[in-house]
Amino acid sequence: MTSLPITGKTQLLGVIGYPIAHSLSPVMHNQAIAALGVDAVYVAFPIAPANLSVALAGLATVGTIGLSVTIPHKQAVIPLLAEISDQARAVGAVNTLWQTDRGWAGTNTDVDGFMAPLLALRSSWQGSTMVVLGSGGAARATITSARLLGCDRVVVIGRDSAKLAALQRDFSPPNPLAIALEVSGWDDCDRWLSQADLLVNATPVGMPPRADELPLSITQLALLPARAIAYDLIYTPRPTRFLQAAADRGLQAIDGLEMLVQQGAVALTRWLDRPAPTDIMRAALDQFLQQH
Ligand code: NAP
Repeated sequence: MTSLPITGKTQLLGVIGYPIAHSLSPVMHNQAIAALGVDAVYVAFPIAPANLSVALAGLATVGTIGLSVTIPHKQAVIPLLAEISDQARAVGAVNTLWQTDRGWAGTNTDVDGFMAPLLALRSSWQGSTMVVLGSGGAARATITSARLLGCDRVVVIGRDSAKLAALQRDFSPPNPLAIALEVSGWDDCDRWLSQADLLVNATPVGMPPRADELPLSITQLALLPARAIAYDLIYTPRPTRFLQAAADRGLQAIDGLEMLVQQGAVALTRWLDRPAPTDIMRAALDQFLQQH
């Protein structure tokens, strides 16, 4: 698979974040663009928070057709948009932008990405309890997903009581994707673990430089029912210690790679107006992660 030569007509796509050098999105998207034979290139842009507004205006001026948005801009970008999808509004965070006549429009495809491997297992998650570790941006996408999947209840375990209170407020009516949401500190979360159908790690605990750590103790993981599924949003290392421990207990385990592929596929489909080659994107990431 060879890329087209870059010419005066080559279109620009990219990802904005800070830092951004670690992003795997260019690997995945450029392979997909080459496979589709599209004359475009996808580049990582390090944009410091103070430069977000001027950078978005500049990238629009040079005709950038679409952008991925990652930490720390997913919430800060919202006031700068001309349009935001209902899904992104419900999450309170945006990870995908495209240009309109009125300016940048945004949505949240982390929700689609997170749900994809779960919907491949079951079409309905009615009656389920999802327990989420962490209360940051990715946790917000999982809460919205829980509602769209049909889960009855979400329990968020976090260490920042102000963030937990904000989640309870934000996922109550009038949010159209409101859901019954319980919150807990880490010290008193054991009773929720024994009720979990799905346990999601939405913290960075388990990825380098904390690859040797687990977000919960082995004793706590033993509280999970045998039916529980362990889902780690982290995609490197594979498996994380959390997923290895869950698998050792005989639980089904899902890592974050498919979420990364599927959130990117939904974005690329929108930017290029044609189906994204998910097999190519997954293979590109697999190969890159094996080599690095
Ligand atoms: P974030 O907004 O920074 O949130 C991280 C959350 O983890 C916060 O609630 C934070 O608590 C908590 N946390 C951090 N260190 C902790 C520790 N030592 N103990 C307990 N809690 C801790 O980050 P994010 O965007 O939500 O991302 C979270 C994870 O999901 C990252 O590993 C990221 O790589 C992964 N992710 C994967 C995908 C994918 O496509 N697979 C997509 C998005 C994110 P405080 O609020 O108290 O700091």
